[in-house]
Amino acid sequence: MKYVIGNWKMYIGTRGGVALVREIGRAFRGKEVMPEVVVCPSFLALSDVSKIVSRSRIKLGAQDAFWEDEGSHTGSIGPKMLKEAGCSYVIIGHSERRKELGETNAMISKKVSIAIKSGLNVVLCIGETKDEREAGKTDDIIAAQLRQALAGVKLHEASQLLVAYEPIWAISGSGKGGAEDVVDVVDAFATIRAILKDVLGLIGKDVPLLYGGSVDADNAYSYLREDVIDGVLVGHASVKTHHILDIIASALKAMRPE
Ligand code: PEP
Repeated sequence: MKYVIGNWKMYIGTRGGVALVREIGRAFRGKEVMPEVVVCPSFLALSDVSKIVSRSRIKLGAQDAFWEDEGSHTGSIGPKMLKEAGCSYVIIGHSERRKELGETNAMISKKVSIAIKSGLNVVLCIGETKDEREAGKTDDIIAAQLRQALAGVKLHEASQLLVAYEPIWAISGSGKGGAEDVVDVVDAFATIRAILKDVLGLIGKDVPLLYGGSVDADNAYSYLREDVIDGVLVGHASVKTHHILDIIASALKAMRPE
């Protein structure tokens, strides 16, 4: 199985989201085999997009969830509400939230635990900054992010957790840009896999690993064709119709190599 997860960020609203998801549904209607395609609109667009995806094999995800299901938390949205809105996935720990909103590994850990307990599949984002990379700290950073976020987490199935490795400098919106070399992604995945086995036990060997950072129609296949790369988390290109359709087609091709 390959995954294509679109993080729509704050790029498009309800009208654009509904139109995009209709196009995706139309393009792949009737295909027997499909990658797991997940769209993650803004909270406001979830319920309208949900009506469209519920008639297709596309799954719905949210871009964040709070660490409580209900209560006195102004402006927050918990996993139970997301499930009610039709979500089966949630992105947690995105670097933009870590940077812009001060989310810490401790906060992320609480979010991951409750989201998994609530039955959502969690896409946990990790990754190092350019400075950390240049200082040779990549392995330490991703190890700390994983160990802290997953402390006390128990999985019944490996697919309840997906780890998205997104070097921060490779994310298009970071202003630095430039996708990471496939060889370096594969290298980082070996470290991530070893940590997952250590933290989660045997089940850690099957947790899907995704790459994210400037993935588009031109480079998606170079990642997706690698056996160890289970999928891609896509930002800016996920809201451009021809890019996302091509990326999904690349995932499909990678699932059925000629
Ligand atoms: C992201 O921020 O999750 C991401 C992958 O962004 P982009 O594809 O735009 O680099």
